[in-house]
Amino acid sequence: MTDAPDVGELTPPNRTLMGPGPSDAHPRVLRAMSTPLVGHLDPSFIDIMNEVQDLMRYTFRTDNQWTIPVSGTGSASMEAAIGNLVEPGDTVLVPTNGYFGGRMESMAERAGGNVVHVDAPWGEPLDSADVQAAFDEYQPDVFGFVHAETSTGVKQPSVPELTGIAHDHDALVIADCVTSLGGVELEVDDWGIDVAYAGPQKCLSCPPGASPLTLNDRAMDKVLSREEPPRSWYLDLSLLEGYWGDDRSYHHTAPITNVYAIREALRLVAEEGIENRWDRHRRVAGALKAAVEAMGLGLNPEDEYWLPSLNAVLVPDGVHAGEAIDYVLEQYDLEIAGGLGALAGDIFRIGCMGYSAQPENVSFLITALSEALE
Ligand code: PLP
Repeated sequence: MTDAPDVGELTPPNRTLMGPGPSDAHPRVLRAMSTPLVGHLDPSFIDIMNEVQDLMRYTFRTDNQWTIPVSGTGSASMEAAIGNLVEPGDTVLVPTNGYFGGRMESMAERAGGNVVHVDAPWGEPLDSADVQAAFDEYQPDVFGFVHAETSTGVKQPSVPELTGIAHDHDALVIADCVTSLGGVELEVDDWGIDVAYAGPQKCLSCPPGASPLTLNDRAMDKVLSREEPPRSWYLDLSLLEGYWGDDRSYHHTAPITNVYAIREALRLVAEEGIENRWDRHRRVAGALKAAVEAMGLGLNPEDEYWLPSLNAVLVPDGVHAGEAIDYVLEQYDLEIAGGLGALAGDIFRIGCMGYSAQPENVSFLITALSEALE
């Protein structure tokens, strides 16, 4: 038998989180997480579930009845979307312009889909003409795209044009909104998005654990009329309907504390006002962008596609990105990150999300980064 390990009390470092996520949790969210547990079928919790769903509809800008927090991280809401929408044999169109399009592909394949691609280089958005051509060539049943690509700092423009093309071909559209929800303009209903998923740990400044998902009736009709059930029992939306729909009957034990957390995080969105929140992200990240440009550093995406919540700053010649990232962590307790995949070593990824999107954080970041690059 091993002896009882001598493990000390938890004292994590006090970092400022300005990487690709998580962002700093709002203190009110952390306070909500330390309130007492109730049961997942307690009448008081049923009220909380209703409130979370209303607040989530507000934040997604949707009237979709089917709007829920999925138990798990952003990849769980992503897999719930893809695993339920994609039936074996469906043709699924996914993008190649970033890391998370690749994850969509893996999930769609596991769901039995035949994956086809619409291409664009990492660091650029999809072109509507290419999406149109891919639809004409492949006639996909499902089209997935990433609204805010965390690996490249690119915001996908012209979303209504893309959803229009998909609907003209009778396809359903899934949007990855993990790094846009609550920080960057997103209009699920007005833009014709059938299914959108997100994560709480980015622009909502909430610890990971319960991840937003919304589906319109057309998407839900497809889910409820599947010939065979999705491969995941845990994420089967027709079963989860029993808990989050009218019955409120047991499916799995909801992560109560994470539901408290997302309730508070979404309450903060409603208090600030969603449009004001988008403005704040644009303003604060705009100051960050102007400051790095004044230092002689460029951003990777063209201004038109700039994603305020994730700034992809080009690493200057002669600088080792990893060393600069380590320096700001060690000297300033400040987290930023490097590039992934095709952009590894070429960019710094500097998040400006939720509670971390504050003017004082911009000054702090610029001080630390300037010193690291000296
Ligand atoms: N999609 C995008 C665009 C993301 O940035 C992330 C996480 O960074 C995910 C999906 C997956 O979310 P998670 O890491 O919370 O599972």
